[in-house]
Amino acid sequence: MSPSTTTKDTSTMEEKGEHINGFDPSAAPPFRIADIRAAIPKHCWVKNPWRSMSYVLRDVLVISALLAAAVYLDAWFFWPVYWVAQGTMFWALFVLGHDCGHGSFSDVAILNNVVGHFLHSAILVPYHGWRLSHKTHHQNHGNVDMDESWVPMPEKIYKDLGISTKLLRFTIPFPLFAYPMYLWHRSPGKTGSHFNPYSSLFSPQDRKHVMTSTACWIGMLAFLLYLSFVFGSAITFKLYGVPYLIFVVWLDLVTYLHHHGYERKLPWYRGKEWSYLRGGLTTVDRDYGVFNNIQHDIGTHVIHHLFPQIPHYHLVEATKAAKPVIGKYYREPQKSGPIPIHLIKILVSSLREDHYVSNSGDVVFYQRDPNMFSIRKSE
Ligand SMILES: [Zn+2]
Ligand SMILES: [Zn+2]
Repeated sequence: MSPSTTTKDTSTMEEKGEHINGFDPSAAPPFRIADIRAAIPKHCWVKNPWRSMSYVLRDVLVISALLAAAVYLDAWFFWPVYWVAQGTMFWALFVLGHDCGHGSFSDVAILNNVVGHFLHSAILVPYHGWRLSHKTHHQNHGNVDMDESWVPMPEKIYKDLGISTKLLRFTIPFPLFAYPMYLWHRSPGKTGSHFNPYSSLFSPQDRKHVMTSTACWIGMLAFLLYLSFVFGSAITFKLYGVPYLIFVVWLDLVTYLHHHGYERKLPWYRGKEWSYLRGGLTTVDRDYGVFNNIQHDIGTHVIHHLFPQIPHYHLVEATKAAKPVIGKYYREPQKSGPIPIHLIKILVSSLREDHYVSNSGDVVFYQRDPNMFSIRKSE
């Protein structure tokens, strides 16, 4: 491997995960992606639109029941329960829309797109805009220069960030509310909006799709404004606004933790060292306790990243079948109790440790800035 030598790397060898017990997780694996594919049972690749729709129905029923209970009870003790439960259900809807975006919901493109618009517009996500940038994320996972969302910043970009951006990016709870900002402005060092068909995120043939999704997003916003006008903004905020914020927290927590925070630092690649397989193997599975089922097994991220066409309801089985092939390259998730509180510790320590990567080098690891909030002369 060729870690960077141009900037001072403060990580120890152990932190970098180099050659512990003779295993280097950043080295090219001895197996091919075809070997993993072959180990996954055939039925795991089959998309069943009825089964997919049954999950939509399940989530819509739970959301309606929660809504009815909140309106009926309107009690101080129930509101916090409602907010957490409904925010989690919004997140569950997002995960089903994620399947639509990958085409793993069904083999019928129009069904995927209609259901995807319905699910994502309901939670103020521009379906095609996000679908396209998420595709970029999958196709470039683990690539410092090309990946999308929660990408490590090279030191030169990091050093130019203002204190307020560093605060928002690395201090809890701010990064947990990043998603709406990401939709509008992408990540630091990148430009483009998920709502703008002419954004650099999209190619010219995508413009019509992006326009449709932005129109649906505006329609949903108008609907919420109408509800605020008719029923009052306070009740609309209590019924929709707070669950929306909880959904954003889930989304940021889960998407961050799938690519950050493990006892041995995860490698990131550039240039010739990157490959679809090596990049995909840098992702991390997570155990979310009772939420695994509610959020449609989103924690099975490694196999999802490598094979996004597998429907969510086959990912647990596919992961089990693939593990003997992936061997040590599979990072076993820490077992969770019913509530995944262990993730908070992982998130906090990653945000303290993982600040930037070296400007050069084809295999790099996150480094820590010990003076993150000191005022520099140039600021
Ligand atoms: Zn991912
Ligand atoms: Zn995905």
